[in-house]
Order: sequence, then C-alpha cells, then structure tokens
Amino acid sequence: MIQTATMGDSVANAYQAFLAYRNLSYAGRAKLLNHIADALASNANDLIAIAAEETNLNPARLKTELNRTCFQLRSYGEAAAKGLVFDNTIDVGTTGNSQVNIDIRKTVVPIGVVAVFGASNFPFAYSTPGGDTASALAAGCTVVIKPHPAHFKTSLAVAKIMKEVLAQLHLPGSIITHLEDASTEAGIELVKHPLIKAVGFTGSLNGGKALYDIAQQRVQPIPVFAEMGSVNPVFLFPNRLAQSAPKYVGVLAGAITGSVGQFCTQPGIIVGIDSPALEQFKSLLVADLNTIPPAKMLHQGIADSFAKYRQLFLDKTTTELLTKEQYFEHDMAIPTLIEVSAADFINDNSLQHEVFGPVSLLVRCANEQEMVQIAYLMKGQLTTTIVANHLDVEDYKEAIHLIAEVGGRVIWNGVPTGVEVCLSMHHGGDFPATTDSRFTAVGADAIKRWGKIKCYQNFPQELLPPPVQNKNSWQIWRRINNEYSKSDLD
Ligand code: NAP
Repeated sequence: MIQTATMGDSVANAYQAFLAYRNLSYAGRAKLLNHIADALASNANDLIAIAAEETNLNPARLKTELNRTCFQLRSYGEAAAKGLVFDNTIDVGTTGNSQVNIDIRKTVVPIGVVAVFGASNFPFAYSTPGGDTASALAAGCTVVIKPHPAHFKTSLAVAKIMKEVLAQLHLPGSIITHLEDASTEAGIELVKHPLIKAVGFTGSLNGGKALYDIAQQRVQPIPVFAEMGSVNPVFLFPNRLAQSAPKYVGVLAGAITGSVGQFCTQPGIIVGIDSPALEQFKSLLVADLNTIPPAKMLHQGIADSFAKYRQLFLDKTTTELLTKEQYFEHDMAIPTLIEVSAADFINDNSLQHEVFGPVSLLVRCANEQEMVQIAYLMKGQLTTTIVANHLDVEDYKEAIHLIAEVGGRVIWNGVPTGVEVCLSMHHGGDFPATTDSRFTAVGADAIKRWGKIKCYQNFPQELLPPPVQNKNSWQIWRRINNEYSKSDLD
C-alpha cells in the first residue's frame, strides 16, 4: 500500500531539511536558484502548455510570466550572494556610546520553514516557483507549498522539476515540499503547524485575512505576508488630458483589460476633474473598451465573483454603465466602465470594493477639493497613478502632493500594471493592500521578509556565523563601523 505523507510528516521533514539548508552559503543558495531557473527555462514549452490548459491565460502571456519567474529566481540569488540584503554589521573598537572597546556583530538568520500559498492569477511568478518561494530559499528557509487548486497540475509539474534540481545538487529533497492536498483545510492546517514560522500569500482579502487571523491566534503567532485587495486609483489632471488623452487611452484600456483584468495592480478607479478634456477622454476610453470582447477568467469562482460585484455596482442608483452591455458566458468577464459622481462615491464606501476583472469606475469630481477628499478616503493601495504635466504641477500642486501619499508605489504618467522586478521596486501598501506595508513582495528585498535579526556580543570567531567573522570568506558586502566594505577585519 502506498502511504501518502501527512501534513505533520511533510512539515517535520521540511524542518529537518531547514536545519541543514540554513548553513548553506549565500552563494550556495544562489546556485540552487540559478539551477531551478535553468531547469524551468528548459522545460518552458511543456509547462506553458499545462498552465494554458488550466488557467485560460494565453501562451504568450505565460511565456512572459515564466521568463520573469526565471529572472526573479536568478536576481534574488544574486542579491543573496552579494550579501547586502542580510545587513551584516560589525562594530568594533570605541564606536559605541560608552567609548570602551566593543565587539558587536549583527546578521540576519533564516526564520525557519515558510508556508507558501500559490496565487491563482500568476501560475508561475506568484505560485510554486514564484517570488515567495524564490525569496524564502534565498533567505535560507525551506518551503512548504500549498498549491492553488485552479492550477494544480502546473504546480505539480514545476515542483517535480524543482525536486530534480535538489537531487542533482545533492541537497535534501524536503527543502521544497509540495502538498498533495490543495484544499482550504490543508492550508489552514499548514498555517497552524508549530514548525511553520512564516506565511507568504497572494489572493483575496477574505483568504489573506482569514490566514492572518489564524496565524495570530497560534500559541506562537507568526508573520503572514499577505498581498490582497487593491483598486490602484488613477488621478487625471486636466492639462495633461487636454494634451494627450488619445495616446493615454490606449495604454489605460490595456491596463484595465490585460489578462482579463486579473492583476493586483489593475486600475479599478479613475478619478478626473470635470472638463472638456475629461469628456473627450471618457468617450475615447468607452470606444476603446467596446472593441474588446468578453474573455474567460482564471476559474469559475473568480468569474462568479466578477459577475456579482459588477452587478452590485450597476444596481446602484448612483452609477451609470458607460460601455455597451453585451451577453457574456458564465465563465467570462466583459470590459466595463461605470461612472459615478465624486459626491456619491464619497458617500458610499462599498464602491471602493475590488472587482477582480476588467472593470473600472470613473469618478467625476466637480473640483480639485473633491479629488483631494477622495485621496484622503482611499483605503491602503499597492499603487497610485498621477497623470499630469508641468502646468498641472503648478495649478494643482497641493493635490498632487497629497495624492502621492496614497499607495506603496506612485506612478507618473503611466499605468500601474507591469511590475518591474528590481531592487528599487516596492510592491506593498497599507492594509488591505497587504498585511505589512514595511515589506515588498516583488524585488530582491522580498528576501528580508524571511529573516530574523541575531546579534553576537564578544563571541569567539569560530562560533560566529561566516558572514560576520573577521575573515570575509564569503566575499560579501558588510557594514564595518558604519562603512560598507568587502575587506577582512584584522
Ligand atoms: P483566494 O480565494 O484568496 O485563494 C488563494 C488561496 O488561499 C487558495 O489556495 C485558497 O485555497 C486559499 N484560501 C482562500 N480562502 C481561504 C480561507 N478562508 N482559509 C484558508 N485558505 C483560504 O484567491 P483566488 O482563488 O486567487 O481568487 C479569488 C479572489 O481573490 C479574486 O476574485 C480576487 O478578488 C482576489 N485576488 C486578488 C489577487 C491580488 O493580487 N490582490 C490575486 C488573485 C486573486 P482554496 O481555494 O482551497 O480555498
């Protein structure tokens, strides 16, 4: 009889693997991540075919996503190997407040076994081989992955490849564990397990908040880095609109409807001040959206949720549908633009609800004051976009400054979709965008989520972790008496 592993066995094995893996050098972790990236790239065609079948996402989009995933793995490995992200800091001599000789050294050590929840909308970049897994492995943690049920086969195929890489490198197989059970209950049991020390999640506000609450009710609460709902407001200023509305409309329509609007950075709210330029923009955007046909969503649950919240918006007496109404199948979404006045938007909090899919709300302000009021009212956001030119900066200086305070990333004359993977990226925001706005989910600084700080005072050299020993054997960047250096310490 074949015995399947219990949750307890899986997490216990991941913990045993952690005890070994945490000692691997930063460069050793980078080697693992590079090998995983190479293996995924060489199996790209097969993986894309499986994912296309399961998610309704087109192969070209999936190819871009898989390339991004490989880049992510490699760049997080590179950041780990350089060492800056671990903030290794050494103070020796009379640098402290007491003016006596000190020897204090600080490093970041891996937090333990991390539970990773695959996201429905990114079968690669935010699922099994995605940003949470890549950053946790770069941090020296082992991972237990709860696959998203909407693309279980893709997840399984990726996990198999990652396991083969571990075997080739003679590393413990339980550095990466893929649960066979993708149910809600399995996810809950995973978060409750005492050997799980942190959680990475991308998905709905309901799911993320439920898992966060479970984690906080544990005997030992643990951090949950959940990326959830965001409507990514776009603020349009009259001078810029008058100058380039036609050009901007095409880009914005693409951001509203790309991948059937199933992006956490989809622009769900557009705010403009009444003017002839806003009228022109509106009619151009409606015409553009009307040319885009309905399309299949990732899974039936998301399609049901789209239909429900779209209808809730349309049923309000304060809203008006601007795009043409047409029949769409029950598993599809239709590009939709709905208008509401700023006064009605301000009075109705429910209009800030994220409708996951190609829906945007055009909020018409009578004046600059209403726009500022909306910025004040916005819940936590991943992004804010400002569409303005130098004349707007002069005419609406205060409003622009206030609007720029909303969201973790502020975009000037662009669109919020298309999140670059680089060190300066911040993909985070106040609740409900994420559960912890101090950390990013994209870019190598995401590694910082999975470390805890450890300080050593007057420790013998041979007992110190290599990153803070006198000899810089890993050749990493360290801060020595507040100067960055790669030198050995005498
Ligand atoms: P989801 O329902 O939050 O599911 C994400 C993961 O969390 C799945 O593995 C799911 O497992 C688990 N989960 C959900 N609720 C849970 C709970 N109460 N307790 C324990 N585990 C739970 O997200 P989704 O399926 O990707 O899409 C649903 C909605 O999420 C969308 O309509 C959209 O509003 C939002 N979403 C947001 C983003 C974003 O980036 N902001 C991305 C994707 C989706 P089970 O399915 O087995 O329960």
